[in-house]
Amino acid sequence: MAADYDVLIRKARVLDGSGNPWFRADVGVKDGHIRTVGKIGDASATRTIDARDRIVAPGFIDVHTHIEGGVERNPRGDNFLLDGVTTVITGNCGSSEMNLAAWFDKIEKLGLGLNVASLVGHNTVRAEVMGSANRLATPEEIKRMQSLVDRAMRDGAVGFSTGLEYIPGTYSNTAEVVALAKAAAAHGGVYTSHMRDEGIHEIEAITEAVNVGKEAGMTVEISHLKIDRRSVWGASDQSLALIEKSRREGVDVVADQYPYDRASTNLGIRLPSWALAEGKIKERLADPATRRKIAGEMKQNLAQMGEPDYSFATVARFASNAVYEGKTISEINVLKGRAPGVVNEIETIFDLMSAGGASMTYHLMGDVDIERIMRYPFTAIASDGSIIQLGAGNPHPRSYGTNARVLAEYVRTRGVLTLEDAVRRMTSLPAHTFSLHDRGLIREGMAADLVVFDPARVEDKATYIKPHQYAQGFDFVLVNGQLVVDDGKLTPARPGQTLRHKQ
Ligand SMILES: [Zn+2]
Repeated sequence: MAADYDVLIRKARVLDGSGNPWFRADVGVKDGHIRTVGKIGDASATRTIDARDRIVAPGFIDVHTHIEGGVERNPRGDNFLLDGVTTVITGNCGSSEMNLAAWFDKIEKLGLGLNVASLVGHNTVRAEVMGSANRLATPEEIKRMQSLVDRAMRDGAVGFSTGLEYIPGTYSNTAEVVALAKAAAAHGGVYTSHMRDEGIHEIEAITEAVNVGKEAGMTVEISHLKIDRRSVWGASDQSLALIEKSRREGVDVVADQYPYDRASTNLGIRLPSWALAEGKIKERLADPATRRKIAGEMKQNLAQMGEPDYSFATVARFASNAVYEGKTISEINVLKGRAPGVVNEIETIFDLMSAGGASMTYHLMGDVDIERIMRYPFTAIASDGSIIQLGAGNPHPRSYGTNARVLAEYVRTRGVLTLEDAVRRMTSLPAHTFSLHDRGLIREGMAADLVVFDPARVEDKATYIKPHQYAQGFDFVLVNGQLVVDDGKLTPARPGQTLRHKQ
């Protein structure tokens, strides 16, 4: 005879994701869904978990990830599952797969550990139509890009993302972004924005994102909200005030954040964007006058940032010479036998760019802004991470430890958030924003994505120096009713699904 439940979680403190206080109950799971929440008397179960004094919460929904490439190598998504994540949204910062239907089919066949949804990226669409041309789009090109966004939405994208600091999206104007966002809004999509600026010009950048939402009539998610210029640390109060004002005026604006003081991106972002157009950086650096012009703009930009040199910039991955990984640009400059100083450090950056560029972490954020942004009620927790090959390169620790870090550092140690509120930002808030209506809450009938942990023990282990360490304390993780983490260990189960938006 079939058991009453596939998994029965007994005597847990149920933290249902709504932000309400936990309550003690049993949670019964059957056929991929939450069947019962409450007191369950005599019942048979294929697997019973005694969760006494542990929390059971909805599985975490990480709305800001970049799993393209990583998911093909590790479709189980080990680093995410061990951080309690059961659903990711990828395709952020303007960069996604172009043919989403084919990609969804492909990764589903590989056997996913977690659920995957995707945005369609502006940079991907623009590169498809215009390459990396440094100019505005023609009306004809806008039409072609719109039809690509429309197709991706029909394929199941949950929205449209931009990466307006990156090539080629940075060459666009607001009108182009609005035109493409409208194609996503027609299908009920969300607009997620890696904005044009996250420091000195952040207010203008938020204003642009809000205007896109207003004109296209859609929800705006501001990606990895931060203040990443030392010279304007503390300015997050103005950013949040503008978001709040926009909400009062009827534009649905929310944000996401990763709980770290370093950003992670490429080295090219330190150069003026015109210098990178058409991929011709080597040619431009070979011309002495152009090289001087690029260096001049970089020096000026550094001064505006309030940084004395490039010691805030650490190489994470440099294919041509792994010795540089983990070292700052200032340190590499000295290693190369050059005297310290900004002028020589710029030459060192040019060397690295000529050798194919590098992945970087940038120490640019301050605690005051991180904590203030985290306290804002509509900031979701999201990693900006990817699926990592254990041991490969020197990635940002956020891919391993984002949720554990919030619970350990910002809930338990610093008391910035309550446990209930932190979990809400990992579950029902992101589910609400992206219309994942059957996830993000513990309610009868919802998909059985669940995580069981002891709030006193959960901890992130990954650091900037030693990033390749899984988070600890998420003892049991269920995706669609199946255990993917059992007593802290990954299982062979692959119950993940692609979550294709329907409208
Ligand atoms: Zn981004």
